[in-house]
Amino acid sequence: MNRPRKRAVLYILIAGFLIAFVGALLFIWIYFSSMREMHQTTRKLYEYPFAVANAALALEADLYQIRSHLLYVTLIQADRQQLANAEALINACEQRAQQKIATITRSYSHDPQQVMQLKQQLALLGNVREQVLQKLSAARYAEANQLIETEWTARFAKVAGLNEIILKHAHQRAIEYVNESQQRLEQHTKRGLSYAALLLSLFVGVGAFVAWRIYQLHIEADKFAFTDFLTGIANRRHFIHELESEIRRSQRYELPFSFAMVDIDHFKKINDQHGHHAGDLVLQNFCLRCVNALRTSDIVGRLGGEEFGILMPMTDLHEAARVIERLRAEIDHSVMTDQGEKIHYTASFGLVSTSQLGEQQGMAHLMKMADAALYTAKQQGRNRVFIAHP
Ligand code: GH3
Ligand code: MG
Ligand code: MG
Repeated sequence: MNRPRKRAVLYILIAGFLIAFVGALLFIWIYFSSMREMHQTTRKLYEYPFAVANAALALEADLYQIRSHLLYVTLIQADRQQLANAEALINACEQRAQQKIATITRSYSHDPQQVMQLKQQLALLGNVREQVLQKLSAARYAEANQLIETEWTARFAKVAGLNEIILKHAHQRAIEYVNESQQRLEQHTKRGLSYAALLLSLFVGVGAFVAWRIYQLHIEADKFAFTDFLTGIANRRHFIHELESEIRRSQRYELPFSFAMVDIDHFKKINDQHGHHAGDLVLQNFCLRCVNALRTSDIVGRLGGEEFGILMPMTDLHEAARVIERLRAEIDHSVMTDQGEKIHYTASFGLVSTSQLGEQQGMAHLMKMADAALYTAKQQGRNRVFIAHP
């Protein structure tokens, strides 16, 4: 994998990491906000229905205690001291009962009218209690007992009845809270998951787009770095790099390859006669002819000006000479036109092959031999292929 591609993969990995990170953050958010929702539900349950239910039950217990104290002092026919003690206990119960009523008033929202009724009944019960205590302080125990059994019990039954209703509603409210909260929690989780999915897809989309653009830019940068702008073939740097690799490969595996150095003949004249633009077209035409005449595994590169290199891997001298001669003849026999003007051009070739190279002879020697062969081709009259001497 080349460097730009490696970099693109690295960017994709970074994008993947970011996506995973954002995904994790979203799930953490969903988890904690769900916990908060549950916490709020629990708090509401304790603040409202549970508080009402507890207060209603405790209120009833306090009223039972008051009745027990009243009955006790009646039955034992209490003296003043015992009565005073009982009254203190009864007052304590009464105070607690008032606190419970305050809690119910605060937290019971179903029907404020019921709370009003409860308060009225409790006030009436208080009156009966006062009457009982008066009877007791007057030592009229039988009348006191009669009041407890009839009046007090009847009023207490009404209080208990109302309490029952309040308790029932508190119970219903608790169930409603739990159901509501369950629904809210489900909705919340669903919404959170949709947001998460949406955001993640967005991130994946943007990440993929960015990675794709980066990849494209690198491919483009590759193209600019390795190709010649005018002709679209390999530039000098890339061609030399390929040539060096081929020399190494050939030495390691003892594979043949051939290399031709080409120079367009009298190119300066073409420029002078037909213009610089026509000269450019000749260069492009020459490259096109090379690419058409050679195999796809062969590489053509522009070494500079009107000088080119042709690298033919896995090709011995005999085969290379045949191919290059055919290319030369093809160029010589063809005429190109630019704005109605006919242009004929030829090229000279210096050919060298691995069979002519010594074991230790590398790139520099190969170039020197090809250059010398090209020089001879020029010397001998141009438009020809000259094979280098070993
Ligand atoms: P020879 O047969 O001995 O090679 O003669 P020549 O005229 O081809 O060689 P010379 O080196 O004297 O001239 C090469 C010319 O190529 C000179 C230069 O202006 C021209 N040239 C170099 N690069 C380009 C190019 O990109 N486009 C055009 N149109 N001309 C170029
Ligand atoms: Mg030249
Ligand atoms: Mg030339």
